[in-house]
Amino acid sequence: MMIESEHLIAAPRHRTRTAIYLAAMRAFAREVRALGFTVDYRFAQTFAQGLAAHRAAFHPEVIVMNHPRGRRATRLFTGLGVELLPDPFFLTDPEAFAQSVSGRTTLSMEHFYRSQRRRLGILMEGDEPVGGRWNYDEDNRKPLPRDGGRWPEVWSRPLDADEQALVDQLDGSHLGGDALEFWPRTRADARSQLHHALLNVLPTFGPFEDAASSGHWALSHTRLSVALNLGLLHPTEVIDGVLRAFDDGLVPIASAEGFLRQIIGWREWVWAWHRVLDDDYRSSNALSAHEPVPASWRSMGDHDMACLRVVLGHLHDYGWTHHIERLMVLANAATLAGINPVELNDWMAENFVDGAEWVMEANVLGMGTYADGGRISTKPYVSGGNYLKKMTNFCKGCAFSPTERTGPTACPLTNGYWNFLLDHAETLGSNYRLAPQLRAAQQRPDRVEIQREAQRCRSIILGRPSKSDTLISQ
Ligand SMILES: Cc1cc2nc3c(=O)[nH]c(=O)nc-3n(C[C@H](O)[C@H](O)[C@H](O)COP(=O)(O)OP(=O)(O)OC[C@H]3O[C@@H](n4cnc5c(N)ncnc54)[C@H](O)[C@@H]3O)c2cc1C
Repeated sequence: MMIESEHLIAAPRHRTRTAIYLAAMRAFAREVRALGFTVDYRFAQTFAQGLAAHRAAFHPEVIVMNHPRGRRATRLFTGLGVELLPDPFFLTDPEAFAQSVSGRTTLSMEHFYRSQRRRLGILMEGDEPVGGRWNYDEDNRKPLPRDGGRWPEVWSRPLDADEQALVDQLDGSHLGGDALEFWPRTRADARSQLHHALLNVLPTFGPFEDAASSGHWALSHTRLSVALNLGLLHPTEVIDGVLRAFDDGLVPIASAEGFLRQIIGWREWVWAWHRVLDDDYRSSNALSAHEPVPASWRSMGDHDMACLRVVLGHLHDYGWTHHIERLMVLANAATLAGINPVELNDWMAENFVDGAEWVMEANVLGMGTYADGGRISTKPYVSGGNYLKKMTNFCKGCAFSPTERTGPTACPLTNGYWNFLLDHAETLGSNYRLAPQLRAAQQRPDRVEIQREAQRCRSIILGRPSKSDTLISQ
């Protein structure tokens, strides 16, 4: 049985995100039928109604499903008497993970990742990492090349007639562009995208993992998160493919290691955490951030700051931005401007094509905004405009200067970064990873001016004129 709930179609989400889910469900039903199975494909207002209608029509003794990833869905389906099977799309035993974190306040991702490498025997020679190093972060921080770089072609498949009709149907009711062609909807698409990624994208993934460009939305990112999250690819086949490409000399160690760290490290880590955490985590707001998600972000429209303009544009056009754009532009700007992390989490989950409750939570409330007070991430990922100036071409032509902390053309991220350190000195004072920056902020000769101008700079990030702007323009 499959249920297409009206909620899935009507919810105000990115058009491409909704289209991917519906197209993938419909394609899956067709594929399973072609294998000779009976599929009861239902359209219902809610899952509960669809399930009740299925029970009334077929009188099944038992209904089983793979364990949902989100806590809300888990509660819903257990409440509806559905038996849950273990989620087959992860490599970690959630019970064992729960035991390993029980009683601890933190457990570092690096520790978890190394234990995954050992347990799964990935890139290992005995008990030692292949190549003698556990990570190649140093090699993987190249900025965007000055000439803009050369990037692999982006995988795509044209829409068939049914898919085109679906996208057209969503036009007008959903925000965001039509980029369905760039995302896999079938198992064959996913395998083709993986093949393309192994041959063309992964070889240059590592070195430019942290770079970003206004001229190219995908750079050397595999964009496999949709296929993995939808269950069109199993992590094992991705891992095996990468190891084969590495053994064949097609992918260098820095790229292979950097990529596998995401799959067996981060992805498994945030999923396992989601199973351990409870609903209290969802309301985390350790830094007391209460600004709403700005209207200009919600409409994914224009913005005075070039970095936000580019990244919101990528989100609008494709329903996706790569990791650094999510972390160092959206989450960073949100943290510096004091945007409510829970609202940010929900907005991102609704608009990213790979967004889901289980994966957003630790990424947004933990890594992205430090809203959980350091439970998942050892420090807030905040930075001023200089970081973006070094790694991207976003600052070129921007009305604000990344090197200026105060004054009319001060970059709101640069001012925001120093002000953040001054504002949260007490809360973050005991964080040893941030101690040098906190000390530097408190010794700045211009710290009073930075704080005086902080509200005006926050208003620019939030896309609304502040009182002082009004005064200046009068
Ligand atoms: C604020 C924020 C929000 C995010 N929201 C999501 C989300 O809703 N869904 C999602 O799948 N990822 C999310 N991520 C993680 C990561 O940014 C995306 O998985 C990645 O950008 C997808 O592109 P890719 O497939 O090219 O990834 P690659 O960089 O090629 O990585 C390979 C795979 O590893 C997995 N992965 C990598 N990093 C993470 C991570 N931090 N958490 C979980 N899985 C990871 C993904 O499945 C990804 O496909 C978020 C990160 C941040 C900082």
